[in-house]
This record gives sequence, structure tokens and C-alpha cells, in this order.
Amino acid sequence: MKKTKIKQSPNDQKQYKHLVLDNGLAVLLVQQSDAEKSAAALCIRAGHFDDPPQRQGLAHFTEHMLFLGSKHYPVAGSFQQFVSHHGGSSNAWTGTEHSTYFFDSDTEHFAYGLQRFADMFAHPLFAESYIEKERQAIEAEFTLKLKDDGRRIYQVHKETVNPAHPFAKFSVGNLQTLVDLPEQSLRDSLLAFYQRYYLASQMTLVLVAPDALNTQQQWAEHYFAALPQGECQRDWLDEPLYLPEQLGIELKVEPHKEMHKLVLSFALPGIQRWYPYKLVSFIAHLLGDEGPGSLYAKLKSAGWINQLSAGGGVDGSNFKDFSISCELTQAGMASTEQITQMVFQYLAMLKQAPFPLHLYRERQQLLQWSFSYQEPSTTEQTATELAVNMHHYPIEDIVFGDYRMETPPETLYRQVLNYFQPTNMRLMLIAPGLTTNQKARWYQTPYQVQPLAAAWLQSLAKLQPEPSFQLPQPNPYLVDELHLLPADATQEKPDCIYRDKALTLWFKPDADFHTPKGHIYLQLSLPCSIKSCWQLAATRLWVELLNDEIQQALYPASTAGLGYSLHVQKQGISIHSYGLTNNQIQLLLDVLQHLDQFEVRAGRFEEIKQQLMRHWRDSHKNKPVASLFSQLSAILHPLNPAIDVLLLELEDMQLDAFASFHQQLLQQLHIEAFMAGNWQQHDAAELQQRLGHWLAKRQHCAPLSVPERSVHGHGPVWLNIAVDHPDHALVIYLPAADKSPEQIARFMLANHLLAPRYFHQLRTEQQLGYLVGTGYVPVNTMPGLAFYIQSPNSDCEQLYQATVQFYRTFLAELEQLSESEFQELKQGLLNQLQDKDTSLSSRAKRLWLAIGQDDLQFDLTERISNATEQLSLNQFIHFFYLLLSPDYDAIFLATSSTPSHSHLRFMDAAQLITELETS
Ligand SMILES: [Zn+2]
Repeated sequence: MKKTKIKQSPNDQKQYKHLVLDNGLAVLLVQQSDAEKSAAALCIRAGHFDDPPQRQGLAHFTEHMLFLGSKHYPVAGSFQQFVSHHGGSSNAWTGTEHSTYFFDSDTEHFAYGLQRFADMFAHPLFAESYIEKERQAIEAEFTLKLKDDGRRIYQVHKETVNPAHPFAKFSVGNLQTLVDLPEQSLRDSLLAFYQRYYLASQMTLVLVAPDALNTQQQWAEHYFAALPQGECQRDWLDEPLYLPEQLGIELKVEPHKEMHKLVLSFALPGIQRWYPYKLVSFIAHLLGDEGPGSLYAKLKSAGWINQLSAGGGVDGSNFKDFSISCELTQAGMASTEQITQMVFQYLAMLKQAPFPLHLYRERQQLLQWSFSYQEPSTTEQTATELAVNMHHYPIEDIVFGDYRMETPPETLYRQVLNYFQPTNMRLMLIAPGLTTNQKARWYQTPYQVQPLAAAWLQSLAKLQPEPSFQLPQPNPYLVDELHLLPADATQEKPDCIYRDKALTLWFKPDADFHTPKGHIYLQLSLPCSIKSCWQLAATRLWVELLNDEIQQALYPASTAGLGYSLHVQKQGISIHSYGLTNNQIQLLLDVLQHLDQFEVRAGRFEEIKQQLMRHWRDSHKNKPVASLFSQLSAILHPLNPAIDVLLLELEDMQLDAFASFHQQLLQQLHIEAFMAGNWQQHDAAELQQRLGHWLAKRQHCAPLSVPERSVHGHGPVWLNIAVDHPDHALVIYLPAADKSPEQIARFMLANHLLAPRYFHQLRTEQQLGYLVGTGYVPVNTMPGLAFYIQSPNSDCEQLYQATVQFYRTFLAELEQLSESEFQELKQGLLNQLQDKDTSLSSRAKRLWLAIGQDDLQFDLTERISNATEQLSLNQFIHFFYLLLSPDYDAIFLATSSTPSHSHLRFMDAAQLITELETS
């Protein structure tokens, strides 16, 4: 057999081996000797496009049913329980043409996990008893997203394409589509679908583990030989996505949330065959430019848009939508024709200009660097990405495919640009209150379709470039060369290398990941930002306005391998810059310069204020569980008031008052800074000096500490929280009494034991809701555990009763937890705690968090590990009796109906906050 070499990054130490089993399964084995966890992914060429027309959602249903027992491991849910006990997780998703399954676990139990994983595909039971339960689970998943605008608009898209193209099908499924039919029961359809598509020849398998390739090969051959063989009969995708009358049209769609958007989509053929050239993303780079002379700059200065993005849109093996998406202002809503004209004027400029080879070279260089200095990803990411890539790229490009960027023939560039014609366009306007005349099926999205006037389309085709348009300018942040620190430059822990009244600087040079990148974090403590609710609201608006102001000026950084983000955080704002270290200090200082210099203009003030208010109002339309968690955070964080409270402050905010706030905000401050990555001593010195210079003209203050609110002694209480959503939801929060490593270990371990059981009992067995689980939820570094459940049909009283019943059964069974199971559970948590950092960014983030939590020895994780090791089974059982006892200081947050018989105190969130503040 001919051996094809898999092209890999010089930074990638993994060994790869590609093979095809006798049954036709394509396998990629990956040996990663330092892997902490092993992972497997299986990607099958069958997705919702393959659903029989009378059985929409069947591929998705199959994906769910596969997890519910197989011949040799018949107990439903036992696979998830197995992997979660061994430090891993499992999941799957159904796409259009593919479905992907994965799991990971600690390395010791991986081979056994793999055996069970293989059995799922080779011998699924599809037990009759779970068919009905899982139908309900799919229905719940469907209803959960009924108000999700992504889904609602997606359905309009589906109804306005060629009905013979499989894209038109409904992908999720529900009780109406997944039902016994006279000609075929649901289970028979499931079996037929499985038998037709779940063949070894249609699957790719990737294993990532520290074990030798030969060992891995034995596993693959041994466990996966039982997969069904055969050739798959499938209908080739030869229907076009759009019929001629579905192009050159305008769609008006009414969203659920308050958004105003104009999306121009151009219908391209499948672009997979051109992957070596990355032409579509290059054109997206040109159209999405935000520098001087760009489409964005022009539309923004006309006051029509807030944001623009280019290049997104659905794609598949024979289609690609290239979308230019604009977030509109009020003025923009009235100017959609002019906006469309400008897009065509910009396109005319691109079409007339020669192929901008110098700009293409810049992109090539950056992509080549990101391959050469490829950063490691988790074994789970590696496995899932490569399993998908195996369906798209030839063997040599399985790893390299996303990075291959060869200079294209100019004719091809012209050919692709030529698809950007008015007659090949669909225009979608999304806004509340538009005139519509029909409703999309399943989601009831109001919409209307109209052909665009032929004369207007012709006039668009004839437009000449607007003279002020130009291609992106030479990028001031780009560099020609990169330098890496020597391999031994890594310092084990961050060092505090500078401290005065105004500035603390932590420094950690790091060469472990062989990447030319670095991170700088700044926390600006701003006393003026937290004086009152008004100030808290004003600070949020200030950050939005600032982001809006500087986006355009600093845009070139984002296309030169650099980035920054600004957030309201703690007692002020945080700034994070990241990417290549060259020019990054300059970028950070550019951001700081703008903090001082930006001008609050009346027009932008009003626009951004309205935008933020819309955003906050829309947060009520979020999933109820998410709303409950944000209420919880408002209760426990004094500096994080509920959205309603902030909204009231913002509504009355006037420009004058805001402008004087802007003058004062940075008058007094303290900066804590952290620099990690490919930095040298002199970089740190430069940063310290330039920050010092920036700080010199201001007053200083000590770093502000985090105020805390404890519910200790106030529980258990039941809070009724109103939400704008038909589902019911219940969150039960169990806070710890202190933040010692011993408490943290107990709470984390408790979550490990509870999570799969609660999910299995309330979701899989009782079908009470789709979003069900428990989580380790610390608040202000104080550990805590949350149970959450959201249900379309059971009210909070029922959810409460089911949870209480779960507590009882759980405690009764706890005595049977054996010493060896307990040790395994502990080992699972220890593995998770001892997870090495997989990338520079995760390491930098972890250390910055530690600095923020005053864990200045950077050993909290170690202390939690020690506490876990020392915990005995008896202590753990005792802990559970306290935690789940009826009088524990718990907070229940519920969207409806209070339980009729209980020992709880009932109140609303505001009452509880008052009580906590006065105690
Ligand atoms: Zn699902």
C-alpha cells in the first residue's frame, strides 16, 4: 500500500498513522505522548440532509438513541456515567451532511471506554422503552429553541430555497415528525436509517492517546471490526440550493428579539474544491475591512450601521452563501437601498482593481505562521476536528487543510468575484414591525418574500466605484519576522517585578508552547465606577461607547495577528491584549491613549445607549435558566445589580451628566498588570515604564477589594423570579460556608457524583426537561453547587418535588457507595485538577485569575488536590447529609408556583438583598 505523508507543523510533536480497516472504516491514529486525557471521535457521513422527507429529524433522533444502550452495555446512560467517572465527557451533534460523536477519559480507562463506544455503533439496542422518552427529549429540545431567533430565521431560510434540496428539511424534529406512521413505526424507520447509513465505509475514526500507534491500531482493529459493512446507497446532491425565482429577492423577517439587520447573501457553488486558495475568506477580508476607504468606514460615517461582517453564511457540498451582514441604526433602517448600492460600488472597485497580491501575501504569511507555530489543542478538539477533516481533505492535508493557502490563478479570483451579481443576491431585512404576510412552519416566524425590481437590479449591476473607496492600507501592526524566546526561558511562576502606589506588574516569560505570542492583562480599579448604581450603569455604557469608538482605529491590529478586549470587571474595567508579541505593547498603549482621548458625541451616545438598553431588555427573553443564574449573581455580588435596576438608571441618563462622568472616571485609579508568554525582560521594563508614564498625570488609589454578600444563616429561601418565557425553570443554589480548599474539594467532588445521576433521573428517566444538570458554581471565589432544570411542561412545584425525591433516593443509596467507587471518583477529580495547561492562553488566563483571587503562591489547585486526597468516604457521606438536608442555607430561584408544603421562606429577590444588606 502506498504511504501518504501527513503534513504537520514543526511545532507538532504528535505521531500520525492513517489506515483503512477491512470493513472500510478510515482511521487516523494520533500518538500524543504528553496527553493527559485520551479522546476518540467518530464522524459519519449522514446528517439531517439524509432524513427521509416524511421523517424529518430522524438523523438527530438516531444520534440521541445511540447513547441509550448497546448489546454488551445495555444500561441507558451508563456510558456517560462511565466517562464522567473517569474524568471525561461525551457528546454528539447532528449536522447537515455529517454527524459527529466523541468522548474523552483518563488514559487508563480509555481502551475500555473505546470498546463501549464502538459497541454503540456496532450493536445499538434502540430499546423500545426509550423511544418514547427520547421523542419527548427531542420535543423539549425543539420547544427550548422556539424563541431562538437563530432557529426562527433559519426556518425562513429553509422555506425559501428549492424544496427539492435537502436544506429545505426541518432538522431538529419534534413529536409531529417523529411519530409512528401507518406504513412504518418510528422504531422501524430508525432501524432502516441506521442500517442504510451507519456503515463502516461512511465513517471516520480518530483516536488521540499517549499509547503507541501499534497499540492504538490493535484497539481500532479489535473493537471496530464489528461495524456493519457495505456500500451506502445515497442520493447525490445535484439539486441547486436556489431556484431562479428565489434569487434577486427581498425577504422581510420579524425577529423575537429587538434586532435590526440587513443581510445581503450571494449564492456561490460549493467552495470545497478551492480549499487550497482560501479565496472566499480572502474576499471576506477585503469586504470586511474597517480601515480608511473601507465599506465599513463609509457606512459607519453615514450613520447607517453599527457593525459589519462579511463571509458568513450556510455552506455544504454544493452550495455556499456569502453574506454581508450589517447591524443597522435607525437611520440605516431607512437607507437600506443606499447601503445596498454602496456594497455594489465597493464590489465594482474590487472587480476593476488588479488582484491585490500584496494583501494576499500578508494573509498567507499570517496563516503560515499560525501553522508553523501551531498551538496545541485538547485531545478532544484534536479528535473531533480531524474526524471532520477526514471527510473533507485528502490524507496529506488532514491536519494542514485549514492552513493551506496557495496563490490562486487570477482567473479563479475573477470567477469567484463574478458570483457577486445583483441577480444572484438575496436581501434579508430583519427588524421588528416589518410588514409580513406569512409565517414559517414550526417556529411561526412572520416573514414576506418579494422579487426585487428588475430595473433596480440592472442599475446595481452598472454602478461604478465610489471614488473614496480603496483597498485595505498597509498594516502598521504587521511585522516581517518573529523571534522566539530560548526554550529554557520559561519561569515557573509569575513574579511580581514592580510595585508602587499606582501599579503592580506581574511577569512570566513562557516558552513552553513554542509560540511567538503573549498576553497582557490589566485590571483598572476605578473608584468612580462603583460609587452608585448610576455609576455602575454609566461604566457599562462607557465601555460600549469606547469599544465603538476605537474599533475602527485599531482594526488593523485584528488583521495582524493581534487582538484586545475591554470589559467591565470587578471594581473597574479590564483590558486584555493578546497575539504576536511584536507591537503588542504598542497596541495596548494605543488602547490606553483612546481611553483618554475619545470624545463622547451626542449621536453615538444616543445610539449606543439605545443599543445597550435593547440588549438588556432582550436578556429577559433568554433561557429562563440563564435568567435565574444572572439573578443569583445579582444577589451575591453587590457590584453586579440586576439588569432591571441598571436599565432604570440608563433610561434617564443624560449626555451632560455622562460627559462629566467621562471626565472623572480615570482621574483616580490603580492598575494591576500581568504579562505572560514570549516576552523578554526588556519588554516588561518597557511596559512598566510606559504604564508609569500614562499613570503619572493621575491620582492613585489602593487596589479595591471585592465586597461580599453571604447568605449564611438566611436560608433556605424560595425566590419567585418573573421571566418572559413560557418554560418553567428552577435553580437551587447551595453555597459553601467558607472557601477553604477542603470545602472546595467537597463541593467539586459532590458535583462529579451528582451531575450524571441528576441528569439521568430527571431528564432521561422522568423527561421533566431538556436543560437539566448540576454545576460547580463558585461566586466571588466562594464555592457552591447548583441544580438547574428547565421544563416546557412541568411547573416549579413538580420540579421541586422531583428534586427533593432525587435527594432522598440519592442519600439512601449513598451508603452503598463503595470505597473503590469513591477512590475512582476522587481520581477523576484529581485528574481534572491536575490537567496541564493545553495552551499559552489557558495558562495565562488561569494565572491571571489566580492573581485576581489573591492566590499569590499559585498553589490553590494543589491544595485542593491535597484536600481531595485526604477526604475519607465517611467524611464525604457526612458532608452530603448536611448539604442535602432540608434546612441547608439554600437559595431556590423559580419562575412559577411555590411548593404548597414546605419549610421554605418565600420572598422576592429584592427582599432578600435588603435582608442581606441590613444583617
Ligand atoms: Zn439533540
